[in-house]
Amino acid sequence: MNRDRLLLAAGALVVIVGTIVVAGRWRPANNANFPNGTWWMCQNPACKAEFSMSSRELGAWHSKHYGEPLPCPKCGQANVIRAEKCTSCGKVYPAEGAVACPSCGHKPE
Ligand SMILES: [Zn+2]
Ligand SMILES: [Zn+2]
Repeated sequence: MNRDRLLLAAGALVVIVGTIVVAGRWRPANNANFPNGTWWMCQNPACKAEFSMSSRELGAWHSKHYGEPLPCPKCGQANVIRAEKCTSCGKVYPAEGAVACPSCGHKPE
């Protein structure tokens, strides 16, 4: 009985350590993908705020609010989507499904 519990505890430990290792590996990849930070757009029609967060800020927020959706810093609603900022004209547009800037047609690198 005791041996089973030990095995269970060891198994749980492996899962925890594995999660930490995976989380640690994900972070550098994230930084490489978003060297200029990430852009977000508020979907609240009365707000429509556009804001950016660096990978570090985003990582810090997620570690404090694990599993929660990101809130808008202006209206506070958790109704934001990932966005892309055009490096050519500076327009912020929804990232999902976008291949080029809807304003000037510039494609993100
Ligand atoms: Zn908002
Ligand atoms: Zn553009």
